[in-house]
Amino acid sequence: MRTETPQITIPHDLRPRDGRFASGPSKVRPEALRALAETGAGYLGTSHRKDRVKSVVRELREGLRELFALPEGYEVLLGLGGASLVWDAAAAGLIERRSRHAVFGEFSRKFVRSVDAAPHLEPPEIDESDPGTHPEVQASDDVDVYALTHNETSTGVMMPVRRPATDGIVVVDGTSAAGGLRIDPAEFDLYYFSPQKAFAADAGLWFALCSPAALERIERLAEADRWIPPILSLQTAVENSRKDQTLNTPPLATLFLMRETLRWMLDGGGLGWAASRSDRNAEALYDWAAASDYATPFVTDPEKRSHVVGTVDLSDDVDGDTVAAVLRANGILDTEPYRKLGRNQLRVALFPAIEADDVERLTRCVDHVVEVLS
Ligand SMILES: *Cc1c(COP(=O)(O)O)cnc(C)c1O
Repeated sequence: MRTETPQITIPHDLRPRDGRFASGPSKVRPEALRALAETGAGYLGTSHRKDRVKSVVRELREGLRELFALPEGYEVLLGLGGASLVWDAAAAGLIERRSRHAVFGEFSRKFVRSVDAAPHLEPPEIDESDPGTHPEVQASDDVDVYALTHNETSTGVMMPVRRPATDGIVVVDGTSAAGGLRIDPAEFDLYYFSPQKAFAADAGLWFALCSPAALERIERLAEADRWIPPILSLQTAVENSRKDQTLNTPPLATLFLMRETLRWMLDGGGLGWAASRSDRNAEALYDWAAASDYATPFVTDPEKRSHVVGTVDLSDDVDGDTVAAVLRANGILDTEPYRKLGRNQLRVALFPAIEADDVERLTRCVDHVVEVLS
């Protein structure tokens, strides 16, 4: 039960310059927001079928191809509904008969639920591990899709993306990883994500980087004797994406903000540059936690500690809910843990758009609050 939040004013010179630490929707760079406002009557409120908007989609598709150094034959798809929609779209038109899933938190589990409910599919195979770890995915002769999650946003665990076997389509949930963690495109067939996490935009869309093998599977299942609701059809998304458009009306602000981030990342030096910003943020958070006498990184194996979403456990005598509430009252937002994990913990986004100096300032604010509370 939550009691009243203690009245604690954190000194202004201690606070982060930008107090947004949500894991999604995440901090939008003020420069991007300004650029959107400056379009005035020239962009928002114009037709998505005309070049003003389609050129933004084109630049996004070309920019993602460059950022991820996609090999010849890979294509960038997009559609509405966010990454969650891809789970149902994959169940409808990418998994042929049976899939195998790495499950190590709420998001990876949600995909399994979608697949489990699909009447035309066999029950999925699962490699599961405890929250705070990740499983090793085993090869299986009986599956045609492997489903991995690059970063479990609910627990703050990252997992290297590697093909579990030589055959089978490898589908990777990169929702909170894409743009903040390095990845080799040779290791996946479909890497999907939403714009409101490491890409510092708003929500409502999904993007997918798609290999020739995945494109071939999508096309074949679209022609098979199987009902695929049009809104979930990946083949429809392929056809529309090739024309730099979406099946139905996209959120224009999201497209614009995502393009701003993409330009910023490419100008800065690309994915390695963006990922190194997250590396520095992670270092600031975990180094502080390791040195603290009341905080510890939740993920015990340093290799598995996420560089895009950090989780830090607090000792029993420090109430995480109260700390997060005091931070919130001081304009430092969304450091609460993922509810269902049920731990006495803080969760902090470490995306490239967040400044390492602000992460350091956040840790000093936590120290300040804990000291005043004790
Ligand atoms: C946020 C998130 C999702 C859901 O994204 P939506 O855009 O809300 O559908 C899926 N997977 C992971 C790993 C996430 O972090």
